[in-house]
Amino acid sequence: MNVDYRLLRVDLTKRKTETEEIPLEVIKKYIGGKGIGSKYLLEEIEPKIDPLGPKNKILFVAGPLTATYFPTSNRYGILYKSPLTGTYAESYSGGGAAQKMRAAGYFMVIIGGKSSTPIYLNITESKVEFKDASEIWGKDTIETYHYLGADARRDLDIMCIGPAGENLVKIANVQNNQHHSAGRCGPGAVMGSKNLKAIVFSGNRKPSLNRKKGFKELVQKILQKLRDLPHLYGSEGVYKKLGTPSIVDWTNELGCFPTRYFTAGYSEYSENFNAQALIEQILVKRVGCWNCPFTCGKYTEVKEGPYVCALEGPEYETIAAFGGMCDVRDIKAIAMLNEYCDRVGIDTISAGSLCGLAIEAKRRGRLPNSDKLKIDYNKPLEILEFLKDIVNKRGLGADFAMGTKYVTEKYHLEDFAMHIKGLDFAGYDPRAFRGFTTSYGVSPEGPTHLRSAFHSIEKDLPDYLEYEGKVAKMIDYEDKMALIDSLIVCKFIRTVLDWNTLIEIYQTIFDKRISKEGLKAITTEIITLSRKFNIREGFSCKDDQMPERVYKEKIINRYGVELGLDYEKYNKMLDEYYKFRGWDKNGIPK
Ligand code: SF4
Repeated sequence: MNVDYRLLRVDLTKRKTETEEIPLEVIKKYIGGKGIGSKYLLEEIEPKIDPLGPKNKILFVAGPLTATYFPTSNRYGILYKSPLTGTYAESYSGGGAAQKMRAAGYFMVIIGGKSSTPIYLNITESKVEFKDASEIWGKDTIETYHYLGADARRDLDIMCIGPAGENLVKIANVQNNQHHSAGRCGPGAVMGSKNLKAIVFSGNRKPSLNRKKGFKELVQKILQKLRDLPHLYGSEGVYKKLGTPSIVDWTNELGCFPTRYFTAGYSEYSENFNAQALIEQILVKRVGCWNCPFTCGKYTEVKEGPYVCALEGPEYETIAAFGGMCDVRDIKAIAMLNEYCDRVGIDTISAGSLCGLAIEAKRRGRLPNSDKLKIDYNKPLEILEFLKDIVNKRGLGADFAMGTKYVTEKYHLEDFAMHIKGLDFAGYDPRAFRGFTTSYGVSPEGPTHLRSAFHSIEKDLPDYLEYEGKVAKMIDYEDKMALIDSLIVCKFIRTVLDWNTLIEIYQTIFDKRISKEGLKAITTEIITLSRKFNIREGFSCKDDQMPERVYKEKIINRYGVELGLDYEKYNKMLDEYYKFRGWDKNGIPK
């Protein structure tokens, strides 16, 4: 059996495993990561199953570059039916756990069923063990990491959930390497529903791609391309020096920083929590994922005061969620909230968004006993208590643990709640973009910034607020992101992954000639698989619409420019998108 593409199936109900080889022809067609995961998810999960029932499956998948010495080859993907949105869902995470999954000899692990008691899986090169997890059930993700020995053994790594996943909180993440998260759509709750606390991988296998003719030269070429952009990837470059918190300055400038739950597009207090503030106030050292030369991560600590914490972060999205949506004006307080989310295993974006929604709803008198509810903007300790209520499903927190869509419908908050398909927005207001906004709408799991990442391109276009001509440009970028998520490498090196380079990578891996059109046909097929999944689940083009507030309310940036979204023009862009993808006028794949 070719262990490079070996699949492990785990049935938690029967405590049985099977291995099989994924045929090379299938790998060539779907590549890995997002591509392979989408294909198997659509085929393996029965329509309309309960995402928190034993019939849901959770797929942990690598890409052909994972664990090779290609830079940033440290990521894995998780695919599942989302308990938060009911849609197809995918999440990715770096760190080092993916390398150990391949070192144990697996390209993909598909887990179904439900254990009758809490367990964790111990997966090595020679065996798969179902181990009792009763002693770690209830422990947070960092305690679990230490308990399972991930800090002590270099050949071992884990993916685990915290109390939020155990409690089936619908924004629960899977955590690895203490501070790395695969989240957004609730994979932690899927693991929790299966009584699966953690997966431990260990081994020493290395992908044979490392020894393949031409691969070393390809890696050298990529490294040179990265060296040629010192302002991004050098020791004084943006990633290493500032990291993602540097995004605060441009989003605030552009007017898309989601301030006070999207009631404004910029914060007057951004200098309290931008990259400079982080570096000056809490940075201890720069850290990075396995096999990455950039070390864009920031290990930070708050040693005294009310916000004592130690973590990797906060990254931009967490700053936007708590510093923006919840208006917390202190990087130390944001770091403390970030650490809490990591420990209990919840998505910081949805956590901040849910708290922002609670604050805004309370201020508008739209929640039961609004006047007595203790949560407000720039009150980090009140926000922390509310998060604890969510994680432990106490009082109103039990409703918010079900996610924004549930709360919106229960309390009739449709006029200002911000979500698409049930997922909270990432840290970029949709009224400040056009192409990127369309990708928010059509993204299969809701408004994540990572499906197209087109915001990073569109912001620099002179016509960034124009509607015409944006869809084709966005699709080109969305296709590239689908390839990056299939190969899988870190999106932060996307600047050097132009189409010619992507072609060269594909040809080197698979010894198969391919054109740009050939690669784009693959990505269209991959993206269409997730659309088919959603259509099968009952979603339609209506679910690609923005929240009503985005069409009705304008925000004003700091230069007095009004930012809004025209309903007709946005819908024209959706029509264009469906046509480009070869779907019918209702967005249904033909
Ligand atoms: S650029 Fe940052 S997030 Fe990406 S692999 Fe490197 S350290 Fe990890």
